[in-house]
Amino acid sequence: MGTEPHRILIAGAGVAGLSAALCFAQRGAQVAIFERALQLEEVGAGLQLSPNATRILSRLGVLDELMETAVEPDAVVLRRAEDLHEIARVPLGRAARARWGAPYLVSHRADLQRALLNAVSKQDRISLHTGMSVEDIDLEGPSPALVTQSGRKEGRLVIGADGVWSTVRSLSGKTGQSRFIGQVAWRRTFSADAQSVQALVRFVSSRSVTAILHSSFHMIVYPVKSGTAFNVVAFTPTRREMATGWSLKGDHSPLTKALEGTFSALSALVHDGGEWLAWPIHVADLDAPWSAPSGLALIGDAAHAMSPFAAQGAATAIEDAATLASQLSGSDNLEMALQRWTIERRRRVLRVARRGAFNQFVWHARGPAAIGRDLVLRLRSPESLMSDLDWLYGWDGA
Ligand SMILES: Cc1cc2nc3c(=O)[nH]c(=O)nc-3n(C[C@H](O)[C@H](O)[C@H](O)COP(=O)(O)OP(=O)(O)OC[C@H]3O[C@@H](n4cnc5c(N)ncnc54)[C@H](O)[C@@H]3O)c2cc1C
Repeated sequence: MGTEPHRILIAGAGVAGLSAALCFAQRGAQVAIFERALQLEEVGAGLQLSPNATRILSRLGVLDELMETAVEPDAVVLRRAEDLHEIARVPLGRAARARWGAPYLVSHRADLQRALLNAVSKQDRISLHTGMSVEDIDLEGPSPALVTQSGRKEGRLVIGADGVWSTVRSLSGKTGQSRFIGQVAWRRTFSADAQSVQALVRFVSSRSVTAILHSSFHMIVYPVKSGTAFNVVAFTPTRREMATGWSLKGDHSPLTKALEGTFSALSALVHDGGEWLAWPIHVADLDAPWSAPSGLALIGDAAHAMSPFAAQGAATAIEDAATLASQLSGSDNLEMALQRWTIERRRRVLRVARRGAFNQFVWHARGPAAIGRDLVLRLRSPESLMSDLDWLYGWDGA
């Protein structure tokens, strides 16, 4: 296999890499994916998948399988942490389909990964090589190439889809390291009948995405696994630099402290002895290049890992995959096509990242600013709150 002339070479089989493989194969390309892990295991917990992403998943033939376990929530509801009082509600469900032309879903990450993998396994044009770490890339020769422990592979394009701590990005010399932003995501999946979640479920609908706001943290709660479990993720600031990794176990006292004095249904979540996983949030430098004219493109977190406050990291990775395949297909001029793709994607991704920063600012407002926020949000109709999101969820640029 070392000499196979694969056309598209992808490092990483996360959401970005698997989506890119499907998008390119659907357009007739041969694709080889090289994934460091021996087995693709579940990392993370829940994912919100907005219509800009599910539209693409539908075209890739992945949506039907995903819908078997995903939940289609009826609304995003903002609530105050002090009393769980409702501040605002953005309708989803049928209203989202009608307005944005595709469903808004919440899913377990493993279920999305499995649906993508099943679609990949049905595609003759894609070969997936697990347990293969990309160790080097070569953009100097006549064809771009990557190197794994089983040798050198040449193709038309190398795609770095190897996540926030991307080796390909470092090897390309395009950017420095990703940066820790001083926020930690604490996450846990509760069985829907777990005692510690019952008090909360009495307040938050089991069919909604609930964002619970406080000046020193926010928490997102939503159902996954056909409603048999709840994904709970809380974000707290920290000054402490943390080790990099997806699933650090250990002391969740910063979360316990943040929840002190909040509504009892919230603080109950951290007092049942259950384990929370800490997920330090790292972001990439969004100004750094995402492509090289000689045949390299970075996609997903490898290009633009962003704070998760707009819940768009996986969605923009899926968008990257679809737009890159469509931009390159039929183009004989790789350099021009990559340049156009980068310009268009950067414009969109920067806007999405700004939305995330805005959410963080508004959700963590304190004192009079929080009172003002609640007042303004209460005066806005659900329709007008939805219209704010048309550019994001209604996007169909692939
Ligand atoms: C707390 C939290 C909540 C989030 N919630 C949402 C949400 O609700 N909605 C949403 O859209 N996004 C969300 N995100 C963001 C989303 O999880 C990421 O943006 C997305 O998973 C990135 O996918 P990726 O494929 O680019 O990277 P990854 O999922 O990290 O995949 C990279 C793959 O590359 C492999 N790899 C690494 N190095 C090498 C190498 N050298 N050679 C070969 N393979 C390699 C890895 O093993 C891995 O399989 C959230 C993120 C966080 C932290």
